[in-house]
Amino acid sequence: MADDKGKGKKEVNQYKPGRQCPKCSSRMADHKNRYACGKCGYTEFKQQKQ
Ligand SMILES: [Zn+2]
Repeated sequence: MADDKGKGKKEVNQYKPGRQCPKCSSRMADHKNRYACGKCGYTEFKQQKQ
């Protein structure tokens, strides 16, 4: 019973869910400052908080 349950919520960031295209629901390409859908051409710019 040596489990530290407090450390059980370590987030794994290996998988990037990315962005889903609102038009065709396919995964969008993650560019530097925008997301782009290669299927329908939809582009969404990232909003950077500063
Ligand atoms: Zn699309």
